[in-house]
Amino acid sequence: MRLLLSNDDGCQSAGLAVLAEACRPFGEIFVAAPDRDRSGASNSLTLDRPLSVEQDARGFHCINGTPTDCVHLALTCLLDDPPDMVISGINHGANLGDDVLYSGTVAAAMEGRFLGRPAMAVSLASRTPRHLDTAGRVVALLVERLRTSPLPELTLLNVNVPDLPFDRLAGFRVTRLGHRHPSEAVTRLQDPHGRTVYWIGGVGDARDAGEGTDFHAVAEGFVSLTPLTVDMTRHSAVGPLCDWVRALEELA
Ligand code: MN
Repeated sequence: MRLLLSNDDGCQSAGLAVLAEACRPFGEIFVAAPDRDRSGASNSLTLDRPLSVEQDARGFHCINGTPTDCVHLALTCLLDDPPDMVISGINHGANLGDDVLYSGTVAAAMEGRFLGRPAMAVSLASRTPRHLDTAGRVVALLVERLRTSPLPELTLLNVNVPDLPFDRLAGFRVTRLGHRHPSEAVTRLQDPHGRTVYWIGGVGDARDAGEGTDFHAVAEGFVSLTPLTVDMTRHSAVGPLCDWVRALEELA
C-alpha cells in the first residue's frame, strides 16, 4: 500500500509523527505537510507566491503552504503514482460539527477526493493531547479495514478519537456532525504603535450535541466516525427554490 499523509499542525507536530509510525507497517508512506502550524486554513490554496519543498531528516516533505497546497502538490507533482489512501492528522484538538468548515486537517484529506480513493481526517479530541498513541492504534485499525473493504467513492471519513488510553475507549460510533454556538468574541487590542488589532476568538461551545452527533460520541468515550461528502448542495431546497424562482420570473 502507498499512503499519502498530511496535517495542518505542521511537519514538526507530534501527531504527524505518530500517524507516520502507525501507517508505516502498511507499506510505503509519503508525508507532505505545511512547514508550520496552519490550523484553520480550511481548503485554501496559495496562489500569490510560489511554493517550495524541503525534505527533513525523516524524509518528510515540508512545504511553505497550506494543507491543501501540500496534498495538491504531492498528488500532481511529487508522487509518480497515485496513493491508495490519503490520511490527515493526527490533529491536536477535535474537529467536530462546524469545525470541519475551518479545519485544515479535514481539507487535506478532502484534497484527495479526485483520486476516488478512501481519505480520512483524524483528530485527537484534546488541545493538550496525552494519548496520541490511542489515535495511532485507531488509525491502524481503520486502514486495515479500509484496505480490504473500501468506502464508497467520494466519502471522506472524519475521525475524532477521545484522549483516553486505548483500552478505555468505549468503541466506535457512526455519527452525524453536530453544531456549535457562534465562536467566542474577537479580542480588540492596541498594538505598540497605537493601531487597533484583533484576535479571532476560539470556537463556540457545542449547541447541537445530542445523541447521534459526533460531539455526543466523543463525550461518551467513543471514536466518532462521520462520513462526509464534498457536495454542499442542499438537495431538499432545489424543488422549493424552483417554485420561488418561477414567481420571480412572473415579477420580471
Ligand atoms: Mn490543527
